[in-house]
Amino acid sequence: MQTAPYSLLDQALIPALKKRQEESLYRVRKVLASPQGIVVQIDGESYLSYCSNDYLGLANHPHVVAAFQRAAGVYGVGSGAAHLISGHNAAHQALEEELAEFTDRPRALLFCSGYMANLGTISALLNRSDAVFEDRLNHASLLDAGRHSGARFQRYPHLDIHSLTKRLTASQARRKLIVTDSVFSMDGDIAPLAALAECAKQHNAWLMVDDAHGLGVLGHHGGGSSEHYSLSVNEVPILMATLGKAFGVYGAFVAGSKALIETLIQQARTYIYTTALPPAIAEASRASLRIVKAEQWRRDKLTNRITQFRNGAQQLGFELLASSTPIQALIVGDNQQALSISQRLFEQGFLVSAIRSPTVPKGTARLRITLSAIHTEQQVNQLLSALESFS
Ligand SMILES: *Cc1c(COP(=O)(O)O)cnc(C)c1O
Repeated sequence: MQTAPYSLLDQALIPALKKRQEESLYRVRKVLASPQGIVVQIDGESYLSYCSNDYLGLANHPHVVAAFQRAAGVYGVGSGAAHLISGHNAAHQALEEELAEFTDRPRALLFCSGYMANLGTISALLNRSDAVFEDRLNHASLLDAGRHSGARFQRYPHLDIHSLTKRLTASQARRKLIVTDSVFSMDGDIAPLAALAECAKQHNAWLMVDDAHGLGVLGHHGGGSSEHYSLSVNEVPILMATLGKAFGVYGAFVAGSKALIETLIQQARTYIYTTALPPAIAEASRASLRIVKAEQWRRDKLTNRITQFRNGAQQLGFELLASSTPIQALIVGDNQQALSISQRLFEQGFLVSAIRSPTVPKGTARLRITLSAIHTEQQVNQLLSALESFS
């Protein structure tokens, strides 16, 4: 950081940064010199990574890389414009059609990121006359979207359908939207989507599910939470998922009825006022989709690693949250403690992130360990051995 005299701007910013540092909340980035994968390179050293969302090991898969390269040769790099101007390419169109079929929805619409999909969708559907009901532990992008929409914003206790029902009953809003993560990003547990769909039906509410951590991972064909629970477009009319996690690429989409998608094309500002994804990204996602559908062994292997990790961590006496998904949270409690364990694991060659408040509620700081289909049994054992000294 530069030395004094500070500009007026920096004079205002520096005390807040110092305070963050004192509270162990200061965030720093690690610079990877390698592709995403199980073994990553940082500052010339190799680390075993347990913190990416590349659950199926597709981010650096040769078919996905080749599709990206080939498409760059055909379509170039930049999309050049927003979708509604001249940026909507045949690659985007094909991917949208394939994603609609994959999720068993009439239509799908690509967004540049999950954050933008959530912000654009909720804001396009609701205004001040409406109400939005969100699980307390929803992803930040959903919470921000709910607040941004101008609708009356209510958070219900995690998974608490009883509390949600009371709130829905009391609401006089024109439109009522229930919004939930399918797999909660910091806890790894799965929302009771069938019960939520039933609750929505009884109260004339709409249900929106964010399947960022479910797509590719849940369901016999990787179709995500709606396949896992067999929920049709009538039960989950607004389905959102991302392509940057299990798909290993980038971007996101919303799937639903033709009327929903046409409404978003007309009204979702994060769709309209932004440059379309590079077509090569769409082609890479199409290659990923083919692997997701064809290679069930990836999900089977992932399940084995999850079971292995949970059994091992429980034997070591760790407090694990109930989760059958690749997101496994070891609750530590204190921010400083979580950070210190993460740092000591790093010194031993393991990349495990410490998640602190405000990302998770105060007092529930944790190690967030994510597993991938391409972790070997031996690698998971190595992590368990390293964790032993902290149990
Ligand atoms: C990652 C994530 C998002 C945001 O998706 P991006 O494509 O990374 O912007 C939204 N919702 C959930 C639940 C997520 O985990």
